[in-house]
Amino acid sequence: MSKVIVSPLYDSDVFRMACRQFDQAADAINLPEAIRDRTKWPRRCLAVSLPIRRDDGSITVFEGYRVQHNLSTGPSKGGIRFHPHVTIGEVAALAMWMSWKCSLVGLPYGGAKGGVIVDPNQLSLNELERLSRRYMQELIPFIGPHVDVPAPDMGTNEKIMGWMVDTYSNHVGHLESAIVTGKPIALGGSQGRREATGAGVAYLVTKYLADLKIPVKKATVAIQGFGNVGSETAAALDHYGAKVIAISDHTAAFHSPKGINIKKALEYVRFNKVLKDFDGGDEITNEQLLTMKCTVLAPAALERVITPELAPKLQCRILAEAANGPTTNQADKIINDRGDIEVIPDVLCNSGGVIVSYFEWLQNLQNYYWGRDEVLTKLYAILDRAKDSVEYQRRKFKFSRRLAALTLGIARVAEAKESRGLFP
Ligand code: GLU
Repeated sequence: MSKVIVSPLYDSDVFRMACRQFDQAADAINLPEAIRDRTKWPRRCLAVSLPIRRDDGSITVFEGYRVQHNLSTGPSKGGIRFHPHVTIGEVAALAMWMSWKCSLVGLPYGGAKGGVIVDPNQLSLNELERLSRRYMQELIPFIGPHVDVPAPDMGTNEKIMGWMVDTYSNHVGHLESAIVTGKPIALGGSQGRREATGAGVAYLVTKYLADLKIPVKKATVAIQGFGNVGSETAAALDHYGAKVIAISDHTAAFHSPKGINIKKALEYVRFNKVLKDFDGGDEITNEQLLTMKCTVLAPAALERVITPELAPKLQCRILAEAANGPTTNQADKIINDRGDIEVIPDVLCNSGGVIVSYFEWLQNLQNYYWGRDEVLTKLYAILDRAKDSVEYQRRKFKFSRRLAALTLGIARVAEAKESRGLFP
């Protein structure tokens, strides 16, 4: 029997990190060898060239990807990232995490992710529309409401999802709202989807604070990243009464021991796009934010920001992984060995986004729409159940919380594959 050891296609720091997590989880539950590689490796991927006419008449060709990690448990699901540092290995790692995330919280989906190598801030609105439509055009033969359902991720938003729905719908000849989630409400988007990821992070943080017997109103919070997830997490925690003492984006980081005025920061970013020159706190470095003394640290930006160098310096009580993959394998080990930080692992912590995406897709398929309260109540019920199952697994096997979450997610995918058998 030949064994695939490494994938030259996906090989990268972040893909190796996702593979190491898988291997550890598979070892921890003695996942049979025969099912391991099948469960671990992405099922298929697509790489596309995207020629776009620029506003000045010239043409630029962008590169994009879509990786479908697992289709055994339903359509694959996951966002599309527009970022200059996207690589196919990163997209594959993110797709893998989507599989474990969907499985952990009990959604009938596999995992997928897409990405385009582009800085969306460098494009005009018209150029961004042409790129988004072209990317969807190339995905058409590869996706579908029962095959693979994209959504927003870093650098993409509702507006982009709207263009993508239109491109796909023009192709099939009727509105196909279930082709993507995270759409504008007018096209079948769900109430509560825009804030879902941040609302879910904040909800779980309040639950873990309660477990630690720390009143929310006494909690201080530092958030790295002020995009959709970071800003909605800040707004929700602020609403619960926690004090957000530090925020940042890729342009600047700010600290205010009295608490940052989140409404003011949101307003500032709406007009200025970035936090640079925000006057609502003292400017600090990214490292100062991550190592700040606070109750809750929420990395809500890119992968691999909590490094082995930073891990010993963290001064938070809870590490809420609002981003996907923010903690490297080595840093994770250091944090575990320290034993004084409660980690809410990414696959649980930020699952609110895909949970409400699932609700959106259900509403589209049924053409029956729910109110915001119904969406949020159902979201919190799923998060409670997922948290309970992670805590149970953790106690039962004396696992770290990450290992508990990953083993639950991975075991369910492996079981589905086992039950389906191998075709032909
Ligand atoms: N991009 C989000 C994530 O990483 C949401 C995916 C979705 O809604 O399908 O979970």
